[in-house]
Amino acid sequence: MKHPLACRCGQLNGYVVCSGHENRGICYCTDCQAFAKYLGQGSTVLDQAGGTEIVQTLSEFVHITEGKDALRCIKLRERGLLRWYSACCKTPIANTPDNVNLAFVGLVHNCLEGQGHQPAESFGTVKMAAFTESATSRLKPKAYGVPSAMMRIVIMLLKARIFGGFKKNPFFNIETGQAISPPRVLSADELEQLKHNDAA
Ligand SMILES: [Zn+2]
Ligand SMILES: [Zn+2]
Repeated sequence: MKHPLACRCGQLNGYVVCSGHENRGICYCTDCQAFAKYLGQGSTVLDQAGGTEIVQTLSEFVHITEGKDALRCIKLRERGLLRWYSACCKTPIANTPDNVNLAFVGLVHNCLEGQGHQPAESFGTVKMAAFTESATSRLKPKAYGVPSAMMRIVIMLLKARIFGGFKKNPFFNIETGQAISPPRVLSADELEQLKHNDAA
């Protein structure tokens, strides 16, 4: 089964192969909040408690068939995840490690909601809530499912290494090991400003 992946304006298109081992979760960390605000998409990405819904899978299952040249990425700091979005309409797409050997992809829900589709159709129920201490709501949601999600991710990554699945990755040039678009690294000031901007 395939689930469509697209940016809001439709320039970037593709699909995710449903492996049945995805982790659907919500991350409340301030970095995910800062990324949404960087794109000016706080209101479309974040839920009422500042959470970002993500679907974690392996790079080999993510296929971008059109508009790949619209992919851009940032890093919130030198050591950090690559945070991918579409340059055309600032739709957040995914978070990936900045390391081609770790074939892990956290897809941001917005790119999985085109044409009336919903992540729940293909990836099941939400199984994890992480970094709930950074939730912006007065009543913090309860954290759950993090250890078992970590375990599933480690097993997925090992499989991708052993069976060579990591060699399929739409975000990296496998030959050079480089991201297909060089990341822009935010300055410490820029990041600080994003974290204190509640309007974005
Ligand atoms: Zn677009
Ligand atoms: Zn996060």
